[in-house]
Amino acid sequence: MKAARLHRYDPKMEGPEFLKLEDVPEPRITEPDHVIVRIGGAGLCRTDLHIIEGIWRTKVNVELPYILGHENAGWVEEVGPGVTEFKKGDAVIVHPLMTDGTCPACRKGNDMHCENSLFPGINTDGGFAEYLLTKSRSLIKLPQGIHPHEIAPHADAGLTAYHAAKKAARHLEPGDYAVLIGFGGLGHIGFQVLRSLSPARIIVVDRSPLALELAEELGAEHRVKAGEKAVQEVLALTGGRGAEAVLDFVGEGGSIEMGLAMTKNAGSYYVIGYGGTVEVPAIDLIFSEKNIIGNLVGTYTDLMELMTLAGEGKVHLSTTTYPLEEINQAIADLHQGKVKGRAVLIP
Ligand code: ZN
Ligand code: ZN
Repeated sequence: MKAARLHRYDPKMEGPEFLKLEDVPEPRITEPDHVIVRIGGAGLCRTDLHIIEGIWRTKVNVELPYILGHENAGWVEEVGPGVTEFKKGDAVIVHPLMTDGTCPACRKGNDMHCENSLFPGINTDGGFAEYLLTKSRSLIKLPQGIHPHEIAPHADAGLTAYHAAKKAARHLEPGDYAVLIGFGGLGHIGFQVLRSLSPARIIVVDRSPLALELAEELGAEHRVKAGEKAVQEVLALTGGRGAEAVLDFVGEGGSIEMGLAMTKNAGSYYVIGYGGTVEVPAIDLIFSEKNIIGNLVGTYTDLMELMTLAGEGKVHLSTTTYPLEEINQAIADLHQGKVKGRAVLIP
């Protein structure tokens, strides 16, 4: 089958060939719960750029070459002998982790913290190919009328935004405020999820006028331009108290300090974007009782719920598609900020 594999790291993203398009053997079923998915769409993500740059080398143990692509959706092609709930032709989205289902974390539903897992596209072969090996535990059938390439990025980008927004929504009541910092690929999904799950008043903060325009189109009533006055503006909007929840989809370049300053006492600051460092004097945490909350992708049930919202038309994802043959162009475009919405590769 054709696949796009990473052969060497490219710290400066010089290219032009980031991944090599080549013919590789198709994956094979070796366990009763294995499933082969024929890829209908695979989302391209900033994490892929970071992998190519080599930033993930110290976090992930993987041997080159291997196939990237961790945001996958398609159709069931073949199932192992133990799989009864899926059959060939079912349209599915793939939860990004292959988990064992038996460790304490899995039994509690914390898929991302499985003690015995594989992450296709991160530490084993992923979905920038015609076929992907996964497990039946990871699959969710798509709602009627939704094509895999329309929702593939939900497998990671959407799921991450959903996981954080759902956590925040549990603590938001009418009259409360939620601030979303960063209205890009994840932020615009987080906004739609929060809109569906919570009555909170939402304030969108972004430095890009284009992003704020999109926020307005999607119905965000309060929009604040990121910069020196942003904290002041949010405090003014919230009666001087700050927001009960601040979801930071940026996580670097001053957004952490800004986000914490916008958080109300006893409120919560959610870290979703990364790159920066969270630094707070202990005494400040004591006096303010602010909570700082990490977020790692999302659970299987989070993805089920997100698919329900997508099927009901409550969460819309904006995408640009590329044929798999143009993967290097797609990577260059993403690197140069030229992709509108999320890029999706179609083999
Ligand atoms: Zn991703
Ligand atoms: Zn597990």
